[in-house]
Amino acid sequence: MQQSDDVRRIKERLDIVEVIGDHVRLKKAGANFIGLCPFHEEKTPSFTVSPSRQTFHCFGCGQGGDIFTFIMEKESLGFREALEVLAARAGVTLAASRGGERKERNLSDVMEMACSHYRTFLRGPEGEAARAYLERRNLSPETWDRFELGWAPSSWDSLWNSLFRQGVPPREALDAGLVLEGKGGLYDRFRGRVIFPVRDIAGRLLAFGGRLIDGEGAKYINSPEGVLYSKRKNLYLLHRAKEAARASGRLILVEGYMDAIRLHLGGFEETAASLGTALTEEQALLIRRLADRCCICYDSDLAGQEAAMRGMYVLQKAGLDVRVVDLPRGKDPDDLLSLPDGKELFGKAIESARPLILHHVFLRGDMLRSPDKRRRATDEILSGVGSLSPVDVAPYLPRVAAALGIFPHELSALLEEYRKRGAGRQEGTREKDKKPVPGKDDGGDDVEAAVCSLLWKDDHIRRSADERKVLSLLGDERLQTVAAALLSASSREEVEARWHSLGETFPLRAIARGGDWCEGLGDARAAWDVVLDILARRREQREYDVIREKLSRGEATREDLLRFQEVARSLKGGSSEKEK
Ligand SMILES: [Zn+2]
Repeated sequence: MQQSDDVRRIKERLDIVEVIGDHVRLKKAGANFIGLCPFHEEKTPSFTVSPSRQTFHCFGCGQGGDIFTFIMEKESLGFREALEVLAARAGVTLAASRGGERKERNLSDVMEMACSHYRTFLRGPEGEAARAYLERRNLSPETWDRFELGWAPSSWDSLWNSLFRQGVPPREALDAGLVLEGKGGLYDRFRGRVIFPVRDIAGRLLAFGGRLIDGEGAKYINSPEGVLYSKRKNLYLLHRAKEAARASGRLILVEGYMDAIRLHLGGFEETAASLGTALTEEQALLIRRLADRCCICYDSDLAGQEAAMRGMYVLQKAGLDVRVVDLPRGKDPDDLLSLPDGKELFGKAIESARPLILHHVFLRGDMLRSPDKRRRATDEILSGVGSLSPVDVAPYLPRVAAALGIFPHELSALLEEYRKRGAGRQEGTREKDKKPVPGKDDGGDDVEAAVCSLLWKDDHIRRSADERKVLSLLGDERLQTVAAALLSASSREEVEARWHSLGETFPLRAIARGGDWCEGLGDARAAWDVVLDILARRREQREYDVIREKLSRGEATREDLLRFQEVARSLKGGSSEKEK
């Protein structure tokens, strides 16, 4: 009884679109939302979420249910655990646990205990130095609460004593990364540091960052990677940034805790901070669920920007539109926002952020002008830009070419070289057992590519084509995938946008190639008939060859024989299956 009451109260407070939106990039489609199913591999969205029914359903794999089913499946939890996760998120106290039943404590609970310990100490007598430090940084007591800032006192075992008194076993404190084991027993990891709690996108407490305010030692230390925490997979303040990021279509990425907090206070709530690693693909995927654009606002010193370049390409390759924010020399976001007109200045800097490609060229400006470094700078830019999708690069070709002192068509040719080399490398290492496509490589076979091109170009053909038949005529699996995506989409823009966001370059290359081939065949409908005819005859020819081979080995069955005669007649008479 109590449990169904809990379920009802949780459902009242949580919106399924919001909960699933943390895991899947959802797009509004009529009354529902659609996205790529997290439970099976797919390239066309068949996963729908209904806000009115508060349910989800995948037409591809059949998964479906409510928020509880979703969390249980997605995070491999039992019902009881899913209930706890969602209760915490909804701010609902579970009836069962209020009833005095012994509740399993998990690591997150231990982390929360530590968090409130640190927060209490910031307000207490031991926290004086920390409070003075925060006030010097212009952070008011309200912001300490808003961002859950805390203070780990300098003593060796203040936290451990408190956890021990509350019955936390040593193993759990160690697993949570809160204490370390020394000769004399356990001691606190964070000592004499201002504490920043790090939560995941759903708000679960994963880690702490600690900033030294005086004395010897590293300026920042963080919780270790472990059961709870992986810095590759998280961004600081993302759980607070997600709504603003969804609404504005962009996420601002800064380096440090202080910068992120300062931007939130300055009204740029779509801000998160990377946690001391080069940006990763996992982080790119997190961001992509929320926004298309990522504005990177790192230290304005050149060394810092160099180091970040690789990570920026990682994000762009993952389908984000990466912009690099250029702050006035020597200023970090924290400095800038502290100025009286800081908010305006920062807003302008965001608006005029440079697309990644132009930023790269800009950074290499000096080298490009120096005769002996020119070659190296050019190679480096080409290998970066050549790793991106041609669709991402196209708008900037003329400006990049001008900076390199060559013509745009020369640049295109160079980039194509780089792409081929890159693709060759990949094929060699990862896709060794993938069947090579006979003959042509770039965009696949001309005639098969023409099918994709016509499906893309002509709405009528796309809507009226017989999907099974068309797909059966294509021998190249890559082109089959492209054609299937076009045939199942409601508009070509929809598929196109998805290719762009996935950074897939093959489909548009194939479409372009097929379009060239169709040139001169008349209008799309006429070309369609010609193309299908050729492919049908090719297929019959293949079939003919196979059966003839069987016949010569004496392995043909009676059905083979009948089919052989049929195919032979059709090939001779010029009539194909299509015209029957
Ligand atoms: Zn599915």
